[in-house]
Amino acid sequence: MKIKEIQAKSIITKSNLPASDFVINPYTGCSHACIYCYARFMMRFTGHDEEWGEFVDVKINAPELIPKLGDKYKSKSITIGSVTDPYQKCEEEYKITRNILEKLSLFDSSFDIITKSDLVARDIDLLKKFRDLTVAFSIGQADDRIRERLEPGAPSIENRIKVLKILYDNNIRTAVFISPIFPMLSDWKKIIELTKQYADEYWFENLNIYPSVRENIYKFLKNNYPELIDKYREIYKDEKIYWDGVENEIKDFCKKGQVNYKIYFHHKDIKKK
Ligand code: SF4
Repeated sequence: MKIKEIQAKSIITKSNLPASDFVINPYTGCSHACIYCYARFMMRFTGHDEEWGEFVDVKINAPELIPKLGDKYKSKSITIGSVTDPYQKCEEEYKITRNILEKLSLFDSSFDIITKSDLVARDIDLLKKFRDLTVAFSIGQADDRIRERLEPGAPSIENRIKVLKILYDNNIRTAVFISPIFPMLSDWKKIIELTKQYADEYWFENLNIYPSVRENIYKFLKNNYPELIDKYREIYKDEKIYWDGVENEIKDFCKKGQVNYKIYFHHKDIKKK
């Protein structure tokens, strides 16, 4: 893992995510090395020739770039960790996310932190100071053997659920971000069953097979589930039909089970409220 300290020019940037106004990414690169990660496009801006998952640039000055007054961000939504995990391994040493949060806790904004890491539990003292904050744990698989192949550098599902419970018990609002849903592999009902006592809401996102991850996904299928290759090809010929079906199933299931949910399928069609 190549770790490099860099000076960032800015740290709170405009978002093109459907559900947030601004994003903060304390690092560039991510040691979780998920094979489906669309954030690979960040490679273009870094000059790295390592593989995605083998380098992390630490934005060493990021906390200093957070303004003292958050007037510009009043009532706005800010997502922390859209193209990196703010609690990946090197955060243990660098504490960039922690130092950023110390400043943000004074803002009158709405925050989401997206992570796969149990390290977030270290900052419970700080998280409790926020007026409006949700910690969203990404859990895309119920079976840790599948997770290990898809997210080789990330903590186990068991660890994530343990910390989800700790946060919930500390009155921090929690979400389980069921993402990405792999057709025929992501048992999202089971994920809900495993976490429902500790999750305030669920977010759902489909697997997008961008050109930059296509080879990885099909290699993963070939090595582990060759019988699914033709089925994936069929689905992704006109994926809208498939995902509309999954969306309806999720809606029915959540309504019956009184589960709070948000669906982030078909990104381009989601309008900001
Ligand atoms: S945790 Fe998120 S940012 Fe990091 S590699 Fe996985 S998908 Fe990409």
